[in-house]
Amino acid sequence: MNQTIELAIIGAGVAGVSAAVYAHRAGLQFSLLEPHAIGGQLLLMERVDNYPGLGVGTQARVLAENLEKTLSILHIEPIQEAVTSAAIEKNQLRINTDERCIVAKSAIVATGASFKKLAVEGEEDFSGRGVSYCAICDGFFFKNKVVAVVGGGNSAVEEALYLSNICKKVYLIHRRDNLRAIAYLQKEVSGKSNIEIIFNTVVRRIQGKDFVETLILEDVKTHAPREFAVNGLFVAIGVTPATEILRGIVTMDEAGFIITNEEMNSSVPFIWACGDCRNRPLRQLITAASEGATAAISAYKYLKGGYISA
Ligand code: NAP
Repeated sequence: MNQTIELAIIGAGVAGVSAAVYAHRAGLQFSLLEPHAIGGQLLLMERVDNYPGLGVGTQARVLAENLEKTLSILHIEPIQEAVTSAAIEKNQLRINTDERCIVAKSAIVATGASFKKLAVEGEEDFSGRGVSYCAICDGFFFKNKVVAVVGGGNSAVEEALYLSNICKKVYLIHRRDNLRAIAYLQKEVSGKSNIEIIFNTVVRRIQGKDFVETLILEDVKTHAPREFAVNGLFVAIGVTPATEILRGIVTMDEAGFIITNEEMNSSVPFIWACGDCRNRPLRQLITAASEGATAAISAYKYLKGGYISA
């Protein structure tokens, strides 16, 4: 099936849905492509405390449901197909899925990011058998058990805090001698008696029979290895952007995040990027929402010209 449209929005996390809402309000003719459920990383989070006006402790799943409801109210029906490839053709973007080919006069990329892997022996073998990337998804399976979380950023600390309410003991393993997580999260961790931080340490190997049983840890200063017994390992070391389909089309940084200007415009005049797939200092729901809106209005200006009050 071949279709030509004004705008393709790829991805329906917070950034993509925000772009869709603003594109709808601007009267653009667009398609929203999302192979998975609506909500992106909201689907893997427990609660949202830092979105102005939502209150503290808002369930992330409820927000994801609200995004879906919004699309439904606006009669925006996502195409539930994965984009398999894309190419520029005569100042338009040709987007292929397994089912169709869409030729878009403009495109907003809101494909988000996925969890980074440790890339150590045993990680792949024990994935789903003790190795996890999502405490909210898998924490329940480690009730009253001993687990480790790797990482020193906000995600790792949030995972450790979440697991501390389920597990007997949580070790937070970090390769440096201080965490990079925001101060209030660090304070919360220090108040948890069953979280212990192991600094200056990396995981070298994950071992076990059917499930994870031990880790081989290495002290980064002395290089001394030691065997460490755990029932599970949660990896929270950052994210990798889902931008493979745009490789060679738009300019990216070394890690693959799409470089844009403040209007969310990429190196291609008719392609914008927003949310976690974009090179930016702050990766938050609130910034994803605002970037989605900005990208949609930028697309409108490109397609129709002039100013719009959304
Ligand atoms: P991050 O801030 O990039 O932190 C990644 C952590 O993992 C760093 O401490 C890093 O160590 C460590 N690391 C990276 N590769 C490693 C490896 N191969 N082995 C061992 N450790 C490794 O990632 P994040 O915590 O996932 O956060 C991603 C973004 O989402 C950030 O912008 C963050 O602020 C945001 N976020 C915000 C919240 C919130 O506001 N509540 C919650 C979650 C995430 P180094 O310190 O040595 O680099």
